[in-house]
Amino acid sequence: MNNGVTVARAVDRLALGETFTFDQLVRAVQRSRQRGLRIVELADLGDHDGLCAVWLMKENEDLILHAHSDSALHRQQFVLHELAHMMLGHDFEDDPEEPDFLLPDIPPQTRRRLLRRQDLDTPEEILAETLADNLAAAIRGSTMHSSRYLEIFG
Ligand SMILES: [Zn+2]
Repeated sequence: MNNGVTVARAVDRLALGETFTFDQLVRAVQRSRQRGLRIVELADLGDHDGLCAVWLMKENEDLILHAHSDSALHRQQFVLHELAHMMLGHDFEDDPEEPDFLLPDIPPQTRRRLLRRQDLDTPEEILAETLADNLAAAIRGSTMHSSRYLEIFG
């Protein structure tokens, strides 16, 4: 099993300190990857196979689509999980089960990673979820506020 980076190193690398806001985290990840990063809620997403989030790697931008949840903490957790994959360097894996029906505008060669509720049982997924929990705790220690990074698709 090669996880690339440990959870602690992944956090240290961003040099954010012990607590930070969600927006500070997003900016730091964006800076470290030197690419755009957009986070968009796609209301329908959860209707398909319990999808929680999709991370799409476009040419110059990372796009995180996440399902709606009435719980702001759940929504944040979906996004943190995908950010964790980015921080851990889990870039290079294609998921063959592509949700093309959801994303007609995304070129087929776009790399993507899907999060389903029932998926949290591989070492990579467990590591990403562990890091997401750590990030959530650091954000809780900071302030909870509405983020300018969370957009909603109509
Ligand atoms: Zn995942």
